[in-house]
Amino acid sequence: MAAYFVGVDLGGTNIKAGLVDEQANVKSKFSVPTEVEQGPDRVVRNITAAAERAIAEAGANHKDVVGIGIGSPGPMSHRQGLVINPGNLPGMKNVPLRDQVAKATGIRTTLENDANAAAWGEFWAGAGKGVQDLVMFTLGTGVGGGVISEGKLLRGYFENGGELGHILVDPGGRRCSCGQPGCLEAYSSAYFMARRAEEFIAEGRPSSLKAHVGLGEMLMAEHIVDASKAGDALAQQVWDEACYYLAVACVTMQHVVNPQRVVMAGGMIAAGDYLLDRIRRHFEELTWKLLDDYPKILFATLGNDAGFIGAAGCAWQADRTGDW
Ligand SMILES: [Zn+2]
Repeated sequence: MAAYFVGVDLGGTNIKAGLVDEQANVKSKFSVPTEVEQGPDRVVRNITAAAERAIAEAGANHKDVVGIGIGSPGPMSHRQGLVINPGNLPGMKNVPLRDQVAKATGIRTTLENDANAAAWGEFWAGAGKGVQDLVMFTLGTGVGGGVISEGKLLRGYFENGGELGHILVDPGGRRCSCGQPGCLEAYSSAYFMARRAEEFIAEGRPSSLKAHVGLGEMLMAEHIVDASKAGDALAQQVWDEACYYLAVACVTMQHVVNPQRVVMAGGMIAAGDYLLDRIRRHFEELTWKLLDDYPKILFATLGNDAGFIGAAGCAWQADRTGDW
């Protein structure tokens, strides 16, 4: 008998969904609007409809679908199957999403933090295939993360494990959006890199980036990468700091988790080797030299599909462990 899993990646704007088999082969995939402004009931209906469509488009039999996995922004609770109050899903307050979708579809459903689901996707079917211990940093507007230790997703007692953006890399340093001074996110996220560059410019430092600020444009991470490659000293400082603090966090995670692989994902990996080479170089400078065993630092491979593939993988894992 065939065994299939539906993956749903719940975002503020769109719901990405698809059907995958036990080997993580994608059988169908598409995206529909979340319509969060229409209220929680509409969002639940859209997710349910997306799950049914994922099955229908793949031509699969409903009875061959073992489970549905949903990746949701936090705060959420896997244990309670609850979406608590995510900033990018206004109105989705204390919604028992897992049970509602399970009831509507008649298929067992599991709910997971979206960053954890993406990390699980890379572990199951991407850059982490074949290893048991993996740490993933997702570098976007913020810095997210996920940790798989000895083949198991780390959630922790309060279900906030793997929030790697809030590792302190510079205690007393720049204040993060979470309130802590010196978080990784305050240096290595696209948002804070741009703010840092703007602050330097406001202090009167020369930079080619001034042209963008002068035009009233929002400074973006790619502007900083381009200017840095072109030799702009201010952009080089911001970029190098972002990579340096990522390396600091990699050393920390090496000693906590001792992973075989550290995977970099998210929009910022578009910078390619300009990102990876620099992180590796700083890591080699910073890490201990007591042993020869170091984690490999590399890029994620699933791209935009990691969310729903990972969510489907969470359902695959729930089926094996009984932890829905
Ligand atoms: Zn923080």
